[in-house]
Amino acid sequence: KTFSHKSQKRQFNTSSSHMTIMPAWVIDRYGSNSVLRYTKNAAFPIINYPNEVIIQVHAAGLNPIDVSMRGGYGAASMAMKRDPLNVKQSGSEFPLILGRDVSGVIMECGLDVAPVYFKEGDEVWAAIPPWKQGSLAEFVVLSANEVSKKPKCLSHTEAAAIPYVAATAWSALVNTGGLTMDNCAKKRILILGGSGGVRTFSIQMLKAWGAHVTVTCSQNAERLVRGLGADHVVDYTAGPVEGPLRALEKFDLVLDNVGGATESWALGLLKPWCGAKYVTLVTPFLQNTDRLGVADGMLQTGVTVAAKALKHLTKGVHYRWGMFAPNGLALDDISEMVDAGKICAVVEAEFSFSQVPQAMLKVEKGHARGKTVVTVP
Ligand code: NDP
Repeated sequence: KTFSHKSQKRQFNTSSSHMTIMPAWVIDRYGSNSVLRYTKNAAFPIINYPNEVIIQVHAAGLNPIDVSMRGGYGAASMAMKRDPLNVKQSGSEFPLILGRDVSGVIMECGLDVAPVYFKEGDEVWAAIPPWKQGSLAEFVVLSANEVSKKPKCLSHTEAAAIPYVAATAWSALVNTGGLTMDNCAKKRILILGGSGGVRTFSIQMLKAWGAHVTVTCSQNAERLVRGLGADHVVDYTAGPVEGPLRALEKFDLVLDNVGGATESWALGLLKPWCGAKYVTLVTPFLQNTDRLGVADGMLQTGVTVAAKALKHLTKGVHYRWGMFAPNGLALDDISEMVDAGKICAVVEAEFSFSQVPQAMLKVEKGHARGKTVVTVP
């Protein structure tokens, strides 16, 4: 990986046309960690559309959704995304490759991509949509609009800690919450849960945009979140947080990474009748489609979210669901913020490619203080 761009290109041109298999960690059925299987014979990704690129993976970031997907979470919706006409047999997603973050090098470009957007040898990062094959493999194929040039100041390991949580935070805070670099100054934001992947990124972005940020987290995570810029920290392990939070000035936006009972009190912390929003990342959308099937699950989801939104609208606040969305353009902006020193990668644990099961167990245990990253040889 230290060879020059020229030799890299030569190697790629000769190798890609001959490669049909690659090393990867796959699952052949849903279940516990024991379903993870290392193989040297995973199918090499193919460019099917002119806007696609193949990336040689140098580092793969893991997220809680990898553990959930290993157990079958979201299988119904993902099957519909992969095969909208439902022509394939059930189980056609296997062998399935997990891993939602990638940092690596472009190996091959579709005809519409090079040389305008990317070229072979470019160092890139991306968040991989859950319906696509993931980054726990030597190579991955993605649409160019999901990909962005990696920040120059980060190693691949550091870069792989950011895209999925950044794209999720961007979708929740910018697309759903309506925050931008220009309207954030002095806005009061509450992040419920401040020490995991999404939150450690969100704190930094909001601080870079001038917001006042309050977070809830465990006492032993306070140093981490304060170091990332949090203005006010409430320890949720010391007792219920509603009381201490109610004593504070009201908020313009609440980002909920915790879910559950928080919905019953968190909307009361918002400034009423001035466009304040509650955005939760913990939604029952995929559980509904897994449980009821895609059509009924979507219907149930629509009814639930509409009823809640209407209920809270009558109290002068907005209720919204935040969802991950792949977004190469947002990653371009985030890359600039990283290179400008406004956002840093928070890598909590690094594993080698042979230690993927251990890395998954680390994520499964919870209590994250940043991201878990696997380096890919
Ligand atoms: P992580 O696993 O990285 O972080 C979880 C963190 O939450 C840990 O640091 C944990 O630390 C802390 N925590 C747990 N309970 C509480 C609590 N009651 N109050 C405050 N902190 C708490 O998760 P991510 O940041 O990657 O994801 C956050 C949430 O967002 C998850 O629920 C995930 O499923 C969801 N998500 C949703 C997406 C969507 O598309 N809707 C996309 C991505 C994520 P400790 O237990 O030690 O306090």
